Amino acid sequence: MSAKILDGAALSRAILDELGEEVAALRAAHGTVPGLATILVGEDPASVSYVTRKVATAHALGFHEVQETLPATAHEAELLACIERHNADPRIHGILVQLPLPRHMEERTIIHAIAPEKDVDGFHPVNLGKLLMGDATAFLPCTPAGIREMLMRAGVRLDGAEVVIVGRSNIVGKPLAVLLGQKGPGGNATVTLTHTGTRDLAAHCRRADVLVAAAGVPGLVRSEWIKPGAVVIDVGVNRVGFNEKTGKPILSGDVEFAAAAEVAGMITPVPGGVGPMTIAMLMKNTVRSARQHPAA
Ligand code: NAD
Repeated sequence: MSAKILDGAALSRAILDELGEEVAALRAAHGTVPGLATILVGEDPASVSYVTRKVATAHALGFHEVQETLPATAHEAELLACIERHNADPRIHGILVQLPLPRHMEERTIIHAIAPEKDVDGFHPVNLGKLLMGDATAFLPCTPAGIREMLMRAGVRLDGAEVVIVGRSNIVGKPLAVLLGQKGPGGNATVTLTHTGTRDLAAHCRRADVLVAAAGVPGLVRSEWIKPGAVVIDVGVNRVGFNEKTGKPILSGDVEFAAAAEVAGMITPVPGGVGPMTIAMLMKNTVRSARQHPAA
């Protein structure tokens, strides 16, 4: 293997250590404890696992953590009432509704209901609009923010770099394209956003200095598509099997990892790459929200 592994788990630990100091300082200066409400609807195993990790991280940082679990059959009105309660609670600085939601709920209605100043996931149109306009007060969506943080901490030069993103979702591809294309540190890249309508995906990928795969298709990005020395960020988390011994799912990314690691300059593993960075950014947004409302 020739590529350097971008260890998201280690990087996120460093970020969480820094945040721990900030939490202690906030408490000492203002008596403020960052408050995070996590809301899970239903029992989708992946969602349960994500929420469990977020709650554990919030606890470890000494947050005031409130976990809400609604049954999959809950009415949308119940979820809206739950959000409203946390919108009004001054001890809560961040609200996270774990997606995806059951089919009978309208994701857009739910995201709109979260107060933008508590939208630590960065999915509310106010925060996405601010991101688009380069307004630094935006809460950035956690996965794109985590990817940028990882690239910056790894010393990857983005200024003038060719970045190719595979996938145009509202939570990863689109906001990441805006973030990395913006003028300023951690930006100024020339970004190509590819998707299911892209004619020659391989040709685009081959041009990339930084290639981000966020399609949710295991092994979509082939090693032959990677420019030698490129930085490869694999966002995909695909359940490709089940390990009978550990009782855990077998996860795989969107990149053909072993072969890609022979060509790339740096590459993220799955798991242990982008995932932990996403959680670290959620905590960072919550601490920032608490700092903005210290009297609460
Ligand atoms: P999504 O399904 O909303 O979007 C996928 C995008 O990929 C779509 O825009 C689609 O056009 C594009 N796409 C799909 N197949 C393609 C193909 N063959 N060629 C080109 N483009 C293609 O997915 P999402 O929510 O953005 O998530 C993508 C992946 O990232 C999933 O595996 C998800 O589990 C993972 N994810 C990981 C994290 C993390 O923190 N590690 C966070 C969010 C999502």
